[in-house]
Amino acid sequence: MGTPITVARGDGIGPEIMQATLEILEAGGADLEIEEVEVGLAAYQAGYTAGIRPEAWESLRRTKVFLKAPITTPQGKGMKSLNVTIRKTMGLFANVRPCIAYAPFVETRFPKMDVVIVRENEEDLYAGIEHQQTDEVVQCLKLISRPGSERIIRYAFEYAKQNNRKKVTCFTKDNIMKLTDGLFHKIFDEVAAEYPEIEAEHWIIDIGTALLAERPQVFDVIVTQNLYGDIISDVGAQVTGSVGLGGSANIGEHMAMFEAIHGSAPDIAGQGIANPSGLLLGAVQMLVHIGQGAAAEQVHNAWMKTLEDGIHTGDIYHEPNSKRRAGTNEFAQAVIERLGEKPSVLTPVRYGQREPLQVPRPKPATRRKKELVGVDVFLHHEPCAPEALAAKVQQASTEALTLRMISNRGVKVWPEGAPETFITDHWRCRYRAADNATLTPADIHFNRGAAWGIGIANTPWIPDGKGFA
Ligand code: NAD
Repeated sequence: MGTPITVARGDGIGPEIMQATLEILEAGGADLEIEEVEVGLAAYQAGYTAGIRPEAWESLRRTKVFLKAPITTPQGKGMKSLNVTIRKTMGLFANVRPCIAYAPFVETRFPKMDVVIVRENEEDLYAGIEHQQTDEVVQCLKLISRPGSERIIRYAFEYAKQNNRKKVTCFTKDNIMKLTDGLFHKIFDEVAAEYPEIEAEHWIIDIGTALLAERPQVFDVIVTQNLYGDIISDVGAQVTGSVGLGGSANIGEHMAMFEAIHGSAPDIAGQGIANPSGLLLGAVQMLVHIGQGAAAEQVHNAWMKTLEDGIHTGDIYHEPNSKRRAGTNEFAQAVIERLGEKPSVLTPVRYGQREPLQVPRPKPATRRKKELVGVDVFLHHEPCAPEALAAKVQQASTEALTLRMISNRGVKVWPEGAPETFITDHWRCRYRAADNATLTPADIHFNRGAAWGIGIANTPWIPDGKGFA
């Protein structure tokens, strides 16, 4: 009895590259019990807004392993991304993308590149919590949790340990986002201290990304948040020389999903010319994950030998290193013929028998004492001179709460604002005790008798088109 896995052939080039991949896996000795499900366009068209049928969920819960070909995401209102839905529903917190150069057989400016990007997959700006705040301003909440950060960072270090990698680099923007990115960086330092044998370093995301694009060989494993990871994993894949060669794993506590990083390539679908390598390398990650390291090793080495022999699909065809332009099926057969062989220029892989990489669930944080120190009141008020708004909203101050600051789109505009600051209709008024004392909930009310006429805390404000005048 093989390991049960769920397989979806997807859309566009999906069925072609999945067929090639499954043939190679079978010939390579992978012991799999395949359950096929339908996801993607057909499911969207049947009215399932996330592109996945209920039976497919049942299969995923049963097998806990999903090998997925790319799908076409229909544009249009109400359609949700299948990938994001599966990642969030099944708690696939870690996205692992090896970005490896195969020079000189695949053209790249960075022949020594060998970077693994470990991206947090559930939190950050991808929590999908967005609000229309005012006529002019919308907001998206960036959520970073301690357990979410701890889990992905620990995963990156465990991955480094298991794969004999020497360094883990953290990318954040904590010079600007001091609480969210600051927390991620702090937890990185805490976890890194538990792995003294692995070098740990931190880069600000912008210069770190520039370095990744210019000198990728200085990185080994990179761990970062969701949005940064989304961007840098494409940068990383691109600079290896071909996005078409990238595979990716999405790992969770309950299940894991493996795929190519590219999309369904509708422009070349049905022509039999697509490169199956991205999906195949995703499948190699899957074999390692389910404890079939020997098959993973055999397939991966035969695939590298095929590249070395110059049998290349059109997307990576480049003379003189390319000798034969192969279609999808021809390429797959070439890999199958080389099973048992190893590359001689590229470094052969060794996976051996491994336990699936698991990280313990982080302990709940100890409850810290909370103190009520003030209130931020967000106003939808037409753009005006900050002093004029301050004169109005100051009247709402009470003995306990004093207006201390007004900001507009996050920029302080009162007191001592700059005349050049651009003003929108989105204001934040910060009230605190005059002596910075701790407050009680009973202190949180506003002067109802004020000229502006409302107690914000307990009366909904109904816009009258003129603001508070
Ligand atoms: P794409 O990755 O499908 O294609 C970009 C370019 O790369 C195209 O020119 C294509 O021909 C080429 N290409 C991609 N994979 C190739 C391969 N294996 N062999 C040879 N050439 C290859 O990106 P896109 O055109 O922006 O997106 C097409 C569709 O795929 C969209 O509907 C998008 O939503 C979807 N998509 C799905 C996934 C996924 O399922 N994980 C990921 C990305 C995009």
